[in-house]
Amino acid sequence: MKGFAMLGIGKTGWIDKDYPQCGPLDAIVKPIAVSPCTSDVHTVWEGAIGERSDMILGHEGVGEVVEVGSLVKDFKVGDKVIVPAITPDWNALESQSGYSMHSGGMLAGWKFSNFKDGVFGEYFHVNDADGNLAILPDNINPADAVMLSDMVPTGFHGVELADIQFGDNVCVIGIGPVGLMAVAGAALRGASNLYAVGSRPKCVEIAKEYGATDIINYREGDIVEQIMEKTHGKGVDKVVVAGGNVDTFIQAITILKPGGRIGNVNYLGSGDYIKIPRAEWGCGMGHKIIAGGLMPGGRLRMEKLATLMQTGRLDTSKLLTHKFNGFDKMEEALLLMKNKPKDLIKPIVMI
Ligand code: NDP
Ligand code: ZN
Repeated sequence: MKGFAMLGIGKTGWIDKDYPQCGPLDAIVKPIAVSPCTSDVHTVWEGAIGERSDMILGHEGVGEVVEVGSLVKDFKVGDKVIVPAITPDWNALESQSGYSMHSGGMLAGWKFSNFKDGVFGEYFHVNDADGNLAILPDNINPADAVMLSDMVPTGFHGVELADIQFGDNVCVIGIGPVGLMAVAGAALRGASNLYAVGSRPKCVEIAKEYGATDIINYREGDIVEQIMEKTHGKGVDKVVVAGGNVDTFIQAITILKPGGRIGNVNYLGSGDYIKIPRAEWGCGMGHKIIAGGLMPGGRLRMEKLATLMQTGRLDTSKLLTHKFNGFDKMEEALLLMKNKPKDLIKPIVMI
């Protein structure tokens, strides 16, 4: 079978691979719709997780089941399914302790396009099918549902990590597709003033639609100064970090009130250390908590998040700015994600 792969750091291309083997608990799925992710860009062009060779990329998709293992109970050939980016081993001790995304080791619940071939192949393997697949509801468009693989659960995880409560003043740093879902999630969780940091015009427009009350353009002025001015020097209760770099924590900590929380879901692709400003962190005593996490995957979360779309509380279609048809368009879509033109939020490839 054919797949679009990372050949090595900085190199991509089409390769031939064997059809994947289906274990007793697993499923083999063929993609219906897939989307490239900024994480694929960090992995390939920044070498963020180290060298990988001939690994099929992609971890966001919906598909159709073409084979199931002998012990799979709830899925059958022909089922249309949502596939989460993170597919934990549900028997692992880390899963039993509540951190399924780290089942088998730190970040090891992230398998597609990390430890094994991803979803940009003609077929792909899903471990622990009963625990990791979710049926695609009839009334959700497959393209919109692809956003449930990673963008919705990651953006919402930033909101969970920051523990956003009713009436909180919130700053979301980064309003690409992940940050936009953090804005939507923060609004659903009852944020009051919602400051969204970004610059690309399309992202700014959609951030307002998802509930941002103020836009902070980090290219036109210092984030800290702008937030402090808008909050009359008080800062915000919670920060979600969904963009920026290792230096972004300087700003996040500075704008945070004592007792506040930072929820980071940004994948830090380069740099050796993140910087915590000593005085602004209360000389180590400021109760400014930094939590960073890989998004939780698995079936229950996908099913629950899908109900938000079914009930009309979340519309992911606003994220899909560029639509492609055909398997051979994956390369173009991935390069778009790398180059980030001004009108891009997220590309989708219909197979
Ligand atoms: P995008 O690149 O589309 O968006 C990044 C956002 O950050 C943009 O709004 C950008 O602004 C803004 N930004 C860039 N530099 C700065 C800066 N110096 N200061 C403030 N804002 C800045 O990324 P995605 O939304 O696709 O993904 C966000 C991150 O989430 C990525 O690192 C991705 O790998 C990661 N991720 C993490 C997952 C997890 O489980 N934790 C899962 C999936 C993704 P501008 O408008 O100027 O472009
Ligand atoms: Zn992703």
